[in-house]
Amino acid sequence: MTILPNLSDLVIEQVRITNEVTVTVRAASPTASCPCCATISKRVQSRYTRTLRDLPASGRLVHLIMRVRRFYCQERTCVRKIFAERFPALTLPRVKFTLRLQETLREMGFALGGEAGAHLGKHLSIPGSSDTILRLVKKTHLPAASSPRVVGIDDWSWKRRLRYGTVICDLESNKPIDVLPDRSVETVSVWFENHPTVEIVSRDRSSEYAAGISKGAPQALQVADRWHLGKNLADSVSTLLARCRAEIRRGLHGQAEPSQEREETEPVLEEERYAPRSHSVVLAREGRRAQKLDRYTQVVDLHHQGLRAANIASRVGIGERTVHRWLAHGSFPEARQRRRRPSLIDPYERYVLSRWQEGYQNGSQLHKELTAQGYKGSPKAMYNYLATLRTPRSDASKSIRLKPQRRKSVPSSPVPLENFSAQRATWLFVCQPEQLDERQQEELALIRQASPSAETTYGLAQAFMQMIRGHTGHLLETWLSEVAASHLPELESFAKGIRTATRRQCLQD
Ligand SMILES: [Zn+2]
Repeated sequence: MTILPNLSDLVIEQVRITNEVTVTVRAASPTASCPCCATISKRVQSRYTRTLRDLPASGRLVHLIMRVRRFYCQERTCVRKIFAERFPALTLPRVKFTLRLQETLREMGFALGGEAGAHLGKHLSIPGSSDTILRLVKKTHLPAASSPRVVGIDDWSWKRRLRYGTVICDLESNKPIDVLPDRSVETVSVWFENHPTVEIVSRDRSSEYAAGISKGAPQALQVADRWHLGKNLADSVSTLLARCRAEIRRGLHGQAEPSQEREETEPVLEEERYAPRSHSVVLAREGRRAQKLDRYTQVVDLHHQGLRAANIASRVGIGERTVHRWLAHGSFPEARQRRRRPSLIDPYERYVLSRWQEGYQNGSQLHKELTAQGYKGSPKAMYNYLATLRTPRSDASKSIRLKPQRRKSVPSSPVPLENFSAQRATWLFVCQPEQLDERQQEELALIRQASPSAETTYGLAQAFMQMIRGHTGHLLETWLSEVAASHLPELESFAKGIRTATRRQCLQD
């Protein structure tokens, strides 16, 4: 009984120990109460056995063989004529696990997930398939936060890049309180209508969420969370640094810019397949192109100086295969325009796009709708199409991290800043100066010295980060006018976004 707790109302009839432990038990009481009417009955109708899995004993699997009795219900008016006795302290009806085993599997699921949980369980003689573990995790009730006051709302992926839902957290208790099936205005607004106590909502800059919250909780103040503000700033800084790569690289040595390049840096018009992208997306594309162009120029120069590809690659900070490809190409390799082969989805493109923009982004649901309209293509083809609709907002893989990446060893180049990378440098610009090691500080100082644009950007980026770290929002107006005076398009675009957001808020107040 001490090894097998919660069995006090049971009688152990037999214990058999081989590689496994099998314990045969029956109820101690001669009577049982009906689960419907609670009338006590002692008229046994029949018996059967039920096998339960339990927690292991010293590494051995434990099975409980229960001898269960069926009783007649003796209450005439009761709907149940016959019932089986229950063991509420030990297990639930029709379940093959004891409660304590279920609890253990659930904890393993939360810590490890289904597959890894089941794998570990096998080693510990805790039986349970990955499906069982996931089912237990999914059945767990979230703590009911009846009246949240401050909540955060963000994307949550059911299936990365394909299906997104929404997670809502109580920011006062720091606990997730709900998961919504999608990100649509409708779903979000209904949730807020059902939670009228919300006073403050922290969100990213998505217009869908903004609309959903305004509709469902017009009383609530919407704020941009610190992480997203920092991330958006970092994205802008990265774009700017990419555009200024040539300026940064040459500034240090006072080299003149080759005149031919001017023409080439003209932004390239690209065929727009979908609705025109936002200004920041266009800027980001131009920035990437400028960085690539500068690298290309550098590759050609070094090649003319007679350097070998491997050497060029490490000095420019790109892969050796890219060097070979570019040199073989003979001219600047423009990003290829996306051209699609005709697809079965073409006739439905407009429909899918409009559904998508309404916020219905559930792939399998859309596939059903299309099939009903006569679409004959595979779900895969449709998923591929949906992937092209994803805005950069959810395309986290390409965006800037707010934490330093574990450095792949960056080979130091004989010429400083020769292998400059905007993506790598962004961290230097937005993090707190005291977090940089000596080499990073040197690199940062060189960049700021080399380029006036970079120097201005550094000052503005640091001032902004200090504002959000120190909660000194009253400095925002000054900061915005400094950005306007800087004439740096990437930061101006970022500032414009902030202005729009604050204006929307003022109107709400
Ligand atoms: Zn009954």
